[in-house]
Amino acid sequence: MLQLFMPLNFMGMVYREIRQGLTDIERMMEVLDQNPEVADREGAGLLKVDGGTIRFEHVGFSYDPERQILNDVSFEVPAGKMVAIVGPSGAGKSTISRLLLRFYDVTSGRITIDGQDIRDVTQASLRAAMGVVPQDTVLFNDTIFYNIKYGRHDATDDEVFAAAKMAQIDDFVKTLPDGYDTMVGERGLKLSGGEKQRVAIARTILKAPPILILDEATSALDSHTEREIQDALDRVSKDRTAVVIAHRLSTIIHADNILVLDAGRVVEQGTHAELVTRRGLYAGLWARQRQAEKAREELAHALEEA
Ligand code: ATP
Repeated sequence: MLQLFMPLNFMGMVYREIRQGLTDIERMMEVLDQNPEVADREGAGLLKVDGGTIRFEHVGFSYDPERQILNDVSFEVPAGKMVAIVGPSGAGKSTISRLLLRFYDVTSGRITIDGQDIRDVTQASLRAAMGVVPQDTVLFNDTIFYNIKYGRHDATDDEVFAAAKMAQIDDFVKTLPDGYDTMVGERGLKLSGGEKQRVAIARTILKAPPILILDEATSALDSHTEREIQDALDRVSKDRTAVVIAHRLSTIIHADNILVLDAGRVVEQGTHAELVTRRGLYAGLWARQRQAEKAREELAHALEEA
């Protein structure tokens, strides 16, 4: 019986290993969200980053010909500055980050980085220059350590720990019995959205790219977690060119420029102070968000007192 059992057990192990490997690859493809239709141009060169100024010039885009998603979108993110993109759901905010990563090609206009059309450089060199903190971070079925080190494979252990500290995840990891060796992912410890996002931030800190794309999570975070994430993001975006896709306006008040997108068009842009006084779409979104926050605080206060 034992003889029969052992090979089966072994097979199970092998099967699990293969499955795990496949899951990692699937996940990686998801992370990269590769679109096979986008190919490197013959003789495409390497992107040369000198500061990382991003320009969208009259960009138009549609996923399918029947429906235009972006119309004549133009803006600049000067080297080292932060530009936030806000607007109602479905306005096309995440589409802008997908185009910048060249998961799709623009239908009209062009996108340049330091003057180079992103279609003229290799996708590998383009993506090497960018760090992405996505809305929903997908973790590999591996340890927390591995998940952070993924940002730069030749990083030393001390660099991994330093990145975790900067991303404000170190204190949390130290409370776990297995610390950095804790398995996470599908069959490991389930991390909260905020914890996963901080692992992604640590990964990005380690990669130290000149350009950052931050796609803020839509889910409401408690104010303590939100402050921790905000701190971590402020540190990682310092002196880098950053594009922030923002859902909570409170996190982008200090952005150098805010683009307000509505139905695929830039309808307003300016600093927070300028936009609030303009009494347009942004001022309306801001007032509504303040009201919702106030109501939440009052409810929390009432519950505390009860
Ligand atoms: P949210 O704030 O809800 O995340 P968003 O402003 O980021 O929204 P996008 O994700 O850019 O919006 O989507 C813009 C429009 O493009 C939406 O109407 C969406 O349905 C459509 N869209 C997004 N991805 C695809 C796709 N892969 N194929 C076809 N249409 C898509």
